[in-house]
Amino acid sequence: VGGTNLKAGLSDGSGLVAVERIPLRWESPEKFAGDLTALALALTAKAGIGQDQVASIGVGVPGQVDSRTGTIVRTVNIPIRNLPLAALLKSRWDVPVYLGNDADCAALGEYQHFAGEGMESLILVTLGTGIGTGIILGGKILRGVNGCGGEGGHMVIRQNGVPCTCGRKGCWERYASASGLIRMTREAMADCPDSVMWSVGSQEQADGRTAFEAAKKGDKAGLRVVEEYIGCLAEGITNLVNLMQPDVICIGGGVSNEDDAYLLHPLQEQVARLRFDQMAERHTLITKARLGNDAGMLGAALLGRAQ
Ligand SMILES: [Zn+2]
Repeated sequence: VGGTNLKAGLSDGSGLVAVERIPLRWESPEKFAGDLTALALALTAKAGIGQDQVASIGVGVPGQVDSRTGTIVRTVNIPIRNLPLAALLKSRWDVPVYLGNDADCAALGEYQHFAGEGMESLILVTLGTGIGTGIILGGKILRGVNGCGGEGGHMVIRQNGVPCTCGRKGCWERYASASGLIRMTREAMADCPDSVMWSVGSQEQADGRTAFEAAKKGDKAGLRVVEEYIGCLAEGITNLVNLMQPDVICIGGGVSNEDDAYLLHPLQEQVARLRFDQMAERHTLITKARLGNDAGMLGAALLGRAQ
């Protein structure tokens, strides 16, 4: 379940064999459940398999879910509150139904990919409008007592810093998300009228690539933004390393597509310098996420195994 679309994939356990997508039009719980069921049925038709060959349905939701009762507690963009979605879907198609938070589903998808390399614990950090984090330990999602566990984006890295949507100030996602990067870029443009960053036209046209592109041309203001941004990213990643010491932390979202020389490598160097475990022989691998936009669907399909 996305903000504007419903996207579904049929997984055979190792990859997606069919994908369908329709626009999300929220009218009522019944219409929503009906649309999801129709979408899932369309996948079986597309793949040429029977309904009885489907082992389970997993739904990734942008918000808080109660996985025990199969209820969506609340969502970010859609006016859903306390919706017993699993029961609504089961009344239409009698098959096990599992719900998960979308960041957790994406982490589960990446985890399965890395698990083949002997990784047992993984944190996926997705840099978007905010920062989504999903934590997988031994194949299980860290949900916490209420399904809200693993919200790394709301660790405060600057006391009394930039106000956050959660009510606190100085949360990591206010600095190290794509939105944080764009805010820093626009502020630096205002301070530096002769910066190469102005080649995009206006402050409003600046995006997550603007400062990086300027930095690659040697622009001082662009380099400063990139340095500040990676510093903020490294603070939060180091917090996660110190707290959890997972096998791998992978970085996803649009910003993660930036050249390794400008993003991943300086990030790895800073975390190596900052982390607590200097004397340890093994260290958390910090790398890019591998599955892109498919991670959420692949992970949702695995929810039944991660209970
Ligand atoms: Zn916050």
